[in-house]
Amino acid sequence: ATFADLGLAEWAVQTCKELGMHKPTPVQSHCIPKIFEGRDVLGLAQTGSGKTAAFALPILQGLAENPFGVFALVVTPTRELAYQLAEQFRALGSCLHLRCVVVVGGMDMLNQAQSLMARPHVVIATPGRIKVLLEENPDIPPVFSKTRFLVLDEADRVLDVGFEEELRVVFQRLPKNRQTLLFSATMTSNLETLLELSANKAYFYEA
Ligand code: AMP
Repeated sequence: ATFADLGLAEWAVQTCKELGMHKPTPVQSHCIPKIFEGRDVLGLAQTGSGKTAAFALPILQGLAENPFGVFALVVTPTRELAYQLAEQFRALGSCLHLRCVVVVGGMDMLNQAQSLMARPHVVIATPGRIKVLLEENPDIPPVFSKTRFLVLDEADRVLDVGFEEELRVVFQRLPKNRQTLLFSATMTSNLETLLELSANKAYFYEA
């Protein structure tokens, strides 16, 4: 299959080509159409499999069709991963005037609150910092009132480091009708539990 066969628009196919992505990897071939169908996804995929583009491309295409509010919140275990994800989102969304904000520990929280209130399209966060912002600043939860996608990247690690409380806060503050996309290197019982809570007939991908 080609990227176009998976339902990607011409601009997205072209952007992929410019980034040296000439055909979809397996995780992309399987997950992109399911995300377009509106399903939740649990993808078991290692770093290097192309998993980031597997969720970033359909999110960016949805955003291009109907931009509003904070379209997607991506939660990832470390600052470094957050910046790497932002880089990929910016590269893949280079022709969209994408506003993408990184919200991680160690940075000024007032600045972060202000950049969230400017309603970026995509927010990439570590669990601890997004929890504090959601709980301690009453202006922040409304920013996420229409969020369409919640992504947990490296979900096994996010859950493993004991971020249950942080994730509970994030899950509660986002709209119920959002799509949830979980990407993880390994299957864990926590992930199974999350999958069972899925409201959108979750699709399970394993390499
Ligand atoms: P990831 O698994 O998301 O960490 O991606 C690993 C690397 O693979 C990234 O640097 C991407 O630019 C690259 N990549 C992703 N999808 C493709 C593709 N379909 N063809 C070639 N390279 C890709």
